[in-house]
Amino acid sequence: MILILAPNTRTDSDEFRRLEAFLTQMPNVRHRVHQESGEQQLLTEIYLIGDTASLSLEQVAALPAVERVVRISEEYRVLGRHRDDQRSTSFEYNGVRFGQDTLQVFAGLCAVNTREDVELMMQALQAHGQVCTRMGAYKPRTNPYSFQGHGKSCLPYVFELAGTYGIKVIAMEITHEAHVDEIREALEHTGNPTGVMLQIGTRNTQNFELLKHIGRQREFPVLLKRGFGITLEESLNAAEYLASEGNRKVVFGLRGMKTNMGDPHRNFVDFAHVPVIKRLTRMPVCIDPSHSVGTRERAPDGLLDLMHVTAQGIIAGANMVLVDFHPHPSRALVDGPQALTLDELPFFLEDVRIAREAYQKRVALAGQNISKL
Ligand code: PEP
Ligand code: MN
Repeated sequence: MILILAPNTRTDSDEFRRLEAFLTQMPNVRHRVHQESGEQQLLTEIYLIGDTASLSLEQVAALPAVERVVRISEEYRVLGRHRDDQRSTSFEYNGVRFGQDTLQVFAGLCAVNTREDVELMMQALQAHGQVCTRMGAYKPRTNPYSFQGHGKSCLPYVFELAGTYGIKVIAMEITHEAHVDEIREALEHTGNPTGVMLQIGTRNTQNFELLKHIGRQREFPVLLKRGFGITLEESLNAAEYLASEGNRKVVFGLRGMKTNMGDPHRNFVDFAHVPVIKRLTRMPVCIDPSHSVGTRERAPDGLLDLMHVTAQGIIAGANMVLVDFHPHPSRALVDGPQALTLDELPFFLEDVRIAREAYQKRVALAGQNISKL
């Protein structure tokens, strides 16, 4: 059960104290307070865990400071959508809004190779009105002898250049909790010129200790990639680990599943799950066409498979696109063969715009038809 308190209820207020006193004396029920301070108001939710079946909604709704009560199902308690659940499906970070109704493109380098290429990438993004990017510094590689990323040594110039070119959010994979401190320190040293969305890669989706650590910090939002060989339910539970520790600024990323059924693509594209995740949870959904498709094969109609699947994800309502670009794919140190080039950026963005417009028209059409039924 979730108790949603009246906005701006302070934990040192009289009402809150009376409410807590009541909750504390309830047998076999534990409670956990979660506060989120937005620009306008302070929101407080209290999660009741344990033997809540005997409590009536009316009884709980009448408690001091309580505005609304939501009875939640067992699954995805924090991030899930529950009956009569009107909690928000969006969050804001560094001036950019991420929600189930927005769309952000994160085009950028799978792995940072040189300062020059980072700059060329960011210059192109700014020229095309983009404020987000992807930049890999810590790369989890299948082969121990492959390039593992420049790590913290590249962070200062990546962040400085982001500031120069107006980039507000960089998606950056981390593979160890120490990387978060390295990112925070580099941001501070460079004067916080940009923001970072921490990415948990598919190889770490069920690294529960890492998830708990990242969930306990609330400074950086998190992009959690679906595990490539586990069920959707298992991956959604992994996202819930982040939220259960306190960080609800979580975007869920689809990046294809490992199975030979996906051949000739690198992975089996799973973007049909975009609307499913929006139905089950309140998370914005990201698609990663690059790691799903993994090639630059072109269909006879002239469109790359990569662009086809991007459009398929967007027309199904995706909220974020993570996509590999490189100014010189031949000198990329990771995943060059799947990278799009800077010349292709305006073409890609226009294709994204068309797919988004089609999605919005479909939603409007659904609205007209549902009201008639
Ligand atoms: C990536 O985005 O660079 C990456 C390694 O993705 P994934 O974890 O989905 O393989
Ligand atoms: Mn990659």
